[in-house]
Amino acid sequence: MDFNDTPQEAEFRATVKAWMAANAGEYLHPPKEPWGLEDFVVRSKAWQAKKHAAGYVGITWPKAVGGQGLSPMHQIIFNQEESRTYVPTGLYSIGLGMCIPTVFTHGNPDVIARYVPKALKGEEVWCQLFSEPVAGSDLASIRTKAVKDGDEWVINGQKVWTSFAHKSDFGIVVTRTNPEAPKHKGLTMFIVDMKAPGVEVRGIRQMSGSSDFNEVFFTDVRVKDSHRLGEVGDGWKVSLTTLMHERLAVGGKPRHAPGYATLMKVAAEVETERGPAMEQADVRRRIADSYIADEGIKLTQMRALSALSKGQMPGPEQSISKVVVAKTMQDMAAFALDLSEGAGFAAEPGSDIEKLQQSYLWSAGLRIAGGTDEILRNIIAERVLGLPGDLRGDKDTPFNEIKAL
Ligand SMILES: Cc1cc2nc3c(=O)[nH]c(=O)nc-3n(C[C@H](O)[C@H](O)[C@H](O)COP(=O)(O)OP(=O)(O)OC[C@H]3O[C@@H](n4cnc5c(N)ncnc54)[C@H](O)[C@@H]3O)c2cc1C
Repeated sequence: MDFNDTPQEAEFRATVKAWMAANAGEYLHPPKEPWGLEDFVVRSKAWQAKKHAAGYVGITWPKAVGGQGLSPMHQIIFNQEESRTYVPTGLYSIGLGMCIPTVFTHGNPDVIARYVPKALKGEEVWCQLFSEPVAGSDLASIRTKAVKDGDEWVINGQKVWTSFAHKSDFGIVVTRTNPEAPKHKGLTMFIVDMKAPGVEVRGIRQMSGSSDFNEVFFTDVRVKDSHRLGEVGDGWKVSLTTLMHERLAVGGKPRHAPGYATLMKVAAEVETERGPAMEQADVRRRIADSYIADEGIKLTQMRALSALSKGQMPGPEQSISKVVVAKTMQDMAAFALDLSEGAGFAAEPGSDIEKLQQSYLWSAGLRIAGGTDEILRNIIAERVLGLPGDLRGDKDTPFNEIKAL
């Protein structure tokens, strides 16, 4: 594998670097204070519009829908340069990373023309309405119903953990349209207008104080048949398009997440009862473990990039990457905070300790979102190692005959 830029890639990187330096402004440095949600939304929309005007949005998307028609390597180079800054991008990661690729793959031409260009410009925000109170890992057990009525469908049910539903204009919703079919076979996906009558979004308050997730209730919400994604009953196949993009989107280490270098800095400053922390064998061993994990993650990501640069889709290594990233982040942050004793509780904004606290809290969510550790281990066991499959006793049973627990 050759990880160096080709001459053309190096030229594109230099152009992006210069554009970032001229346009990222205050985002070239960490924010002095955390942004509130409203401020974050305004900043995200402004940054997306600026990127769009400069031709840096939808880099791999066809020009016909507002993209740039360039290669995945161009997108990766742009992402690498953008991730050196502190620009706000998270508002669009679900919409542009997962929902819009699903709309583009399974929507009809009118739907694609109506929704994709506006989403790329950042004018409309999207959310992913999959998980329900009794269906997360076992997504095929969802109960939200859609019933056909003329050329419309009527949706009733409840979703949960819907990130940014409260700030979204549209969502993709997976529903059960045939309860008599086995659970994976009776599903259908739709585009839903989050402002339509009958859609109620209720925020969930997190222990961190912020509210990123929501419960979403659907009561007789009407959706046109033209807004169906894929065939009736093919919702599982359509969901897999979204999930494949989700694993690509959440598989890597979040930008600016602390790694072994931060642990080394903390260890160099801490004095333990036995002397400087850096001189303790157990501390040095943890630093070495952290370095090995960080390098492994970097090389696994390079492997995915290498596949993309050859026009291939990355394989199950993305599942391996997410399992290792999330656990390594959590373990390393916990160790560094423990080592800092009292100083680990309080932190100056922007300090290493604050970054470690954020990393510790956020990594717990990362171990669940986009497939829990256990589910990803099942995928690795079955699809990478060829081990016997998980028990799936209800796979062929009609959904309405499966007993609820
Ligand atoms: C940060 C974050 C953002 C999210 N955003 C969204 C969103 O925008 N839209 C959306 O639809 N959902 C979202 N989710 C929900 C997420 O998809 C689910 O939380 C996840 O799929 C797990 O489902 P669950 O919470 O119902 O847990 P469960 O599936 O009930 O799992 C509970 C526990 O059982 C384990 N378990 C379950 N099945 C098995 C098995 N077969 N073998 C071994 N262990 C098993 C799990 O690993 C877990 O430890 C988000 C979650 C997080 C944390």
